[in-house]
Amino acid sequence: MNPKRISIIGSTGSIGTQTLDIARAHKDLISVRGLAAGSKNLQLLCEQIKEFRPALVSVPDAAAVEHIKNFIGSEKLPPVEIIPGMEGLVALAEDDQSDVLVTAVVGFLGVKPTLAAIKRGKIIALANKETMVAAGHLVVELAAKHSATIVPVDSEHSAIFQSLLPSLQKNAVQTEVAKLLLTGSGGPFRTWSKEQMESATREDALKHPNWSMGAKITIDSATMMNKGLEIIEARWLFNLPVSKIQVVIHPQSILHSAVEFVDGSIVGQMGLPDMRLPIHYALFYPDRVPSERVPRMSLAAIGQLTFEEPDLEKFPCLALAREAATVDDSKACVLNGANEIVVDSFLKGEIKFVDIPRNLERVLSEHKPIKSPSLEDILDADQWARERARLVLTA
Ligand code: NDP
Ligand code: MG
Repeated sequence: MNPKRISIIGSTGSIGTQTLDIARAHKDLISVRGLAAGSKNLQLLCEQIKEFRPALVSVPDAAAVEHIKNFIGSEKLPPVEIIPGMEGLVALAEDDQSDVLVTAVVGFLGVKPTLAAIKRGKIIALANKETMVAAGHLVVELAAKHSATIVPVDSEHSAIFQSLLPSLQKNAVQTEVAKLLLTGSGGPFRTWSKEQMESATREDALKHPNWSMGAKITIDSATMMNKGLEIIEARWLFNLPVSKIQVVIHPQSILHSAVEFVDGSIVGQMGLPDMRLPIHYALFYPDRVPSERVPRMSLAAIGQLTFEEPDLEKFPCLALAREAATVDDSKACVLNGANEIVVDSFLKGEIKFVDIPRNLERVLSEHKPIKSPSLEDILDADQWARERARLVLTA
């Protein structure tokens, strides 16, 4: 096997650092060609540059470029090309010396670099679900045109991808699949009453029972917007209607998701809730490589797996996303953009937890959907959603 040359956008975050942990454990099989991150953890990015020696780096602005340059000078490291801003993210995505682009940034920011990598026919290890939510139809259309491969990193979609592989390879998903069973832990508020949730704090919402993740996705998990975004992500990744995507609450997060086939057989994928498992799979796809990092699971030690129906009334965000998933227009993009702003406002302590869906409902009710939106329409809809959400939040 030739070593995989990878680039990571969002290398200092939860997915980014776990990706580098896999790279660290498999230095003979993975070389790191490019790293991009925001400005919050520049020192960590510097350490990553020192350890992995990428040729290409991107940071958001000139001040961050200066910081990296000073570090490289003081450590006497070989020169690195540093390109700031979106131009840098797209340069990493288009770089012909890299085979796999790991999209580990949060939010709509991932759309342009993902599309750029697809146009180069790359393998995309896709963690950045918001790109699929906002622009899924464009992603799948372009990926087919340029023979790009999208391997999901999101644990549920990785599980479905692995379970579906024989049908995907035969191009028989439409005829062989009865439904996708998208599992979710139910988040920290699964057992809370609606009344208790009225007083849920930021700290309560940030306490995910099973997964350790970045702040935005942790809040999305608490509102169950995350599962809703995942319905939309699954819809595009596997080209199935929402009527064939069923959310099942599974508090232990061991069955990462499953596929029910038309003959009644259910095939799923299991593992401990550790993102290094789907990341490892995506980095080495289509091969199976022995893992140095992924913890092993004992079914007997786990003992019991339980399943239940989701409560759409208690989690209105799940219902909102499910509805947006049924239409082929700009609604999902607007829901995504507004959600980024509203969640940020909750994280800053400006609004209550239960105000998240209320604000989103208001933005959505004011949106005039655009059918089969172009990239330009998507960029406009995202912008509109953010502005509208800011207005609604201050009203
Ligand atoms: P984090 O918030 O932990 O990390 C986000 C990364 O993006 C950081 O490296 C951050 O840099 C970087 N970033 C921020 N702004 C920019 C910018 N302008 N240019 C380049 N990079 C930037 O997020 P997660 O790792 O939790 O999530 C990443 C994606 O993966 C999300 O879409 C999420 O939904 C998805 N996902 C995550 C899972 C998880 O377990 N975490 C599970 C399944 C999906 P910095 O902070 O240093 O400024
Ligand atoms: Mg997930």
